[in-house]
Order: sequence, then C-alpha cells, then structure tokens
Amino acid sequence: MMSGSSPAKGEGPFFDLSSGSISKPRVGVSACLMGEPVRYDGADKYNATVAERLAESFDLRPLCPEADAGLGVPRPAVRLVRVEGRLRALGVDEGGLDVTVDLERFSSKIIARLDVAGFILKSRSPSCGKIDTTIHDMDGRVIGQGSGLFVHALRHAFPFLPLEDERVLENEGAREGFVDRVYLYAAWRHLVAAASDRAIMGTWSPHEYLHACHAHHARRLMKRAPDVGERLARIVEQADRAGLKASLQGYAEVIREVLVEHV
Ligand code: SF4
Repeated sequence: MMSGSSPAKGEGPFFDLSSGSISKPRVGVSACLMGEPVRYDGADKYNATVAERLAESFDLRPLCPEADAGLGVPRPAVRLVRVEGRLRALGVDEGGLDVTVDLERFSSKIIARLDVAGFILKSRSPSCGKIDTTIHDMDGRVIGQGSGLFVHALRHAFPFLPLEDERVLENEGAREGFVDRVYLYAAWRHLVAAASDRAIMGTWSPHEYLHACHAHHARRLMKRAPDVGERLARIVEQADRAGLKASLQGYAEVIREVLVEHV
C-alpha cells in the first residue's frame, strides 16, 4: 500500500522570477500524521497542527516508510534494538522478526528520488522518530533514545535537510523556526540549480536576479543570522561584476552556512 502522493523529483519551480512568486515548498510528512491509517495496528495519528496549520505553508507529501516498504497494514509491531553496535528493527511480540533490511532498502530507494525541502516526522517511531525513539538491548532493557531507521537514512543523504517532529511543532516558536528553515532550504536548492541554468543566464541581468532573490529571502536569513546582512548586500551589489553564476553560488553558500550553523 503506497501512502499519499509520492514526494518525487521534478515538479514546478520554487521561485519564479517572471511572476515574482514563491510556491509552497514540498515537505515530506509521516503519513499517519495526515490521518492515513498506516500504523502497525491499522490506526492513524492525525495531527491537526501538521495536517491543517502547516499545510498553509507547505505542499505536504505523505509517506510511510513501513507501509511503503511493503510490511503491510496491519503488521507486527517492531522496536529498535542495538545488536553488536548496530540498530535493528526487531519484532516486539514475534521473536525472530527482523525488518531492518526491508526498511533500509526502502529508505535508499525512496531517498534517491526524494524532492522535498523538509520532513515532518512522527515522534518515537522506530522508523520516523527524530531523536526520541526508545532503543532496547537484546534482553528488552531500555538503553537509550535515538533516531528511527528512516531518519538515519534521511540525515545521511541530506545532512542539513530541516527535520522536526509533531510534538515540537506544537510550539509556536518552533513551528515558525521550522517554516523559515524549510523556505531557506528550498531557496538554497533553487539558487544552486539556477547557477547552472542557461535559460536564466540569458534572460536576467545578474543584479536583477540577485536583487529579486534577496527581496524574498533576506528577512528569513537575517532573522536567524543578523550578521550575514552585509555579506548578502555586497553579493547583490557586485552581482553584475561577478557574474550570475558566481553570485548565485555565493548567495547559496551563505544560506547553506546559516542552515548548518543556526539550526
Ligand atoms: S510513524 Fe512512520 S512508519 Fe509509523 S505509521 Fe507513521 S509514517 Fe508509518
């Protein structure tokens, strides 16, 4: 059973200079939070903050790593167990059940075509938990907390992709910060792609293009890192001299730094 619409590559632009508009960034979301009945017990975990409030800011694309990996609904519950230094997803009640390889295979397959600017995760899940999934030892004792297997794969593939779970997103400040980070991540990706887009190069002067980008992104950047203001203004000012490619790369690099250093 595939949950929701797949967040795959290749849809419309995030930033369209011709119309001066920004579209909602695509954001992956654990499908159960959107009300899809994909949990191991056939239930959902509908969350109105995610499915309604955040849908105003994002184009949400649901995905369930366990159901989409073919584990079925309903399915036996699994938990994270540390075995010889490695995390495995083992059956809670079914001794011998080990779905680690299914989950890892699915994760690498979906991640190869994932096209999102952020991911909203279901807390505590052995697949989707951001930081608070319980980890057991082989004897069933709790030995700590960590990330789910899908999240490990996400972080490995996209080291500074904004991730947050539904519990944190109930907080207004955290929600606002996440929205900013996602828009900046989408802007970073847009600028990196635009830097090698010949059509853009032939249509806009470097200063025109950089000026328009700056008008859209500066407020969010400076909210997180006020000290980048001068650097950004310099890049815009000197764009015609530096050329479009170098200017876009320079601006993208500032966004990357802000995303990495001002989490
Ligand atoms: S937490 Fe993740 S794996 Fe579990 S049901 Fe929700 S989307 Fe599926």
